[in-house]
Amino acid sequence: MPEYPEMEAWRRQLHDPVSAFRIAKAGPAHIATLKTYDPPLTALEGRRFEGAERRGKRLLFPTEDGELVLLVHLMTAGRLKYLGAGETGPKTPAFRLEFEGGPHLVLTEAGAKKRAGVWLLTPEHAEAELEHLGPEAYGIGAERLAEICTGESRRLHSLLRDQRALAGIGRAWANEILHAAQLSPYALTKELTPAEIGRLAAAIDSELARGLELRERGAKDDRAYRIHRKLGEPCHVCGTPIAQVDFEEHTIYYCPECQTEGRVLKDRRLSRLLR
Ligand SMILES: [Zn+2]
Repeated sequence: MPEYPEMEAWRRQLHDPVSAFRIAKAGPAHIATLKTYDPPLTALEGRRFEGAERRGKRLLFPTEDGELVLLVHLMTAGRLKYLGAGETGPKTPAFRLEFEGGPHLVLTEAGAKKRAGVWLLTPEHAEAELEHLGPEAYGIGAERLAEICTGESRRLHSLLRDQRALAGIGRAWANEILHAAQLSPYALTKELTPAEIGRLAAAIDSELARGLELRERGAKDDRAYRIHRKLGEPCHVCGTPIAQVDFEEHTIYYCPECQTEGRVLKDRRLSRLLR
């Protein structure tokens, strides 16, 4: 799933083009993609977006008259693309907006499952829709992060991915951040020392900024990630092969030398079965 670096890179790319022209035609949208019906999509026609905003992993397109907000959540496989006048796009996108003069914005989704969503909301309803999200991960700072960590005892990897605790990080960048902070994915939030929380806050900012810079230059996953999905490849810091462990519904990648004092993390699903 796209996380802060990917979403923020797209937001920056879309900001100017989506606000350049009025919306000529809103829709059609796949029935599973459009999550709201009131106000209808056609309410967007004739209006102009103010630009593109982002909250966590969601993109927001408020209209310049302040009356409506188009909210987009791409989930795992959704992609947004801005096509200039005359540029041909996919025949049946999940959602489509056409601007005056011909450019259009299309949402496509790979695979049969339609999980990405589009909501057309009033600003009040948009606020309610985003209310459950925790503070933005980027720029969180050690003080605020310490409050979040001491609030409940959680495994660190799980806390970082929890959008209610901290918004914008998912499984890939959690792996990158924990490696940069030299912390175990299994470390318990309440047991972190102030120095460790300081390292984690610094790693959140440095890794998300590194990711954003790479994504803005068009880097693919293989170059953006140094730990995520790098099983067996040498750690870029110490040369130890990157290890993986299956945890809950996904896989965590880590360096045993840099992060767990040489310990190999056990597959918790398996150990549960054997207990
Ligand atoms: Zn290492």
